[in-house]
Amino acid sequence: GAETNNHFINQEEIQQLLKPRKKFSHKGTYGHALLICGGYGKMGAAVLAARACLRSGVGLLSVQAPAIGYDVLQTAVPEAMLLPDPHRKHLSRLPESLEKHNALGIGPGIGTERVTKTLLGQLLATTELPLVIDADAINLIASSEKLKAQLPKGKIIFTPHPKEFERLVGKTQNEYDRLEELRRFCREYTCYMVLKGSHSAICTPEGDIYFNTTGNAGMATGGTGDVLTGIITALVAQQYSLKEACQLGVYVHGLAGDLAEASVGEIALIASDVIEHLPQAFQHLT
Ligand code: AMP
Ligand code: MG
Repeated sequence: GAETNNHFINQEEIQQLLKPRKKFSHKGTYGHALLICGGYGKMGAAVLAARACLRSGVGLLSVQAPAIGYDVLQTAVPEAMLLPDPHRKHLSRLPESLEKHNALGIGPGIGTERVTKTLLGQLLATTELPLVIDADAINLIASSEKLKAQLPKGKIIFTPHPKEFERLVGKTQNEYDRLEELRRFCREYTCYMVLKGSHSAICTPEGDIYFNTTGNAGMATGGTGDVLTGIITALVAQQYSLKEACQLGVYVHGLAGDLAEASVGEIALIASDVIEHLPQAFQHLT
C-alpha cells in the first residue's frame, strides 16, 4: 500500500547526512551557487534567498538581478556577486557561463512577465545544472504545457506551497489524494518535490515520501519559502544529492524557525529571524 513508502525525518539521520568542513579546503570546495531571483517590488525575495544561501555553507554565490536590484543586492548582501540583467524591472536573459555554477535556484520574486518566461524556457531547454524551482518559476511552468514538456529529468527540485502545487500538479479533494498526486507527478517527471506546509512532504522520483518534523506556525509569514530556496540551493551546490539536500534543507529550515520562535515567539517571527538562526541550527546538528 501507499503507507509503506512514507517516512518521518529524524534528527539522527539528518546529523549523519551533514558533511563536516575540511581543514585543507577553500571556497571552491563548497561550490558556486547561482540564484535567479527578484524583480520590481520583490527584490526582498532575492535578498532573503541570497542571505540564507550564504548562511548554509556555500563557497560562492552569484545572484542575477534586473537593474532596479543592482544596488539593493550589493548593499544588502555584500558577500554575493551580482550578475546584472540588462532589463530594468524583470529578469530577461540567461547569464553567460551558466554552466560554471554547481546549482541554480530560480523563482522567488521573479514575477510572470513574458521576458522572464522566455528566460525560463531557454534555461530548461539548455542547462545541465541541478535546479531548485520555486514560486513564480513554478507558476510559469504550471501555465505552459510547452515548458512542462521541456523539464529535464532527474535534475529538478520543486518547492511549491499548496497553491503553487495545485497549479502545477492539480486540484485534489483531500490530503490522501494530494499525496498520491505528488507521487504520480514526481514519478512522471523524474523529479523531487518539497510540498511545503505544516509538515512539509518531500517526494522522490521513486515515489517515496518523507515528512519533516521541525517548524512552527510562526513560519507562516512572507519570505520563509524564499529562505528555503536559498538553503536547498546552497546544499546542492555543495554536492549533497538532491534527496539529501531536500531532507537536510527542510529540516534545518524548520529547526532555525524553531530556534527563532524560542527567541522572538510565533507571532512576531519574520523570515529574517529564520536566517539569523541558521548558524545555531547548523551548530545544533554538528
Ligand atoms: P512560502 O509560502 O513559499 O513562503 O513558504 C512558507 C514556508 O514556511 C514553508 O517552508 C513552510 O513549510 C513553512 N510554513 C508555513 N506555515 C507553516 C506552519 N504552520 N508550520 C510550519 N511551517 C510552516
Ligand atoms: Mg514562496
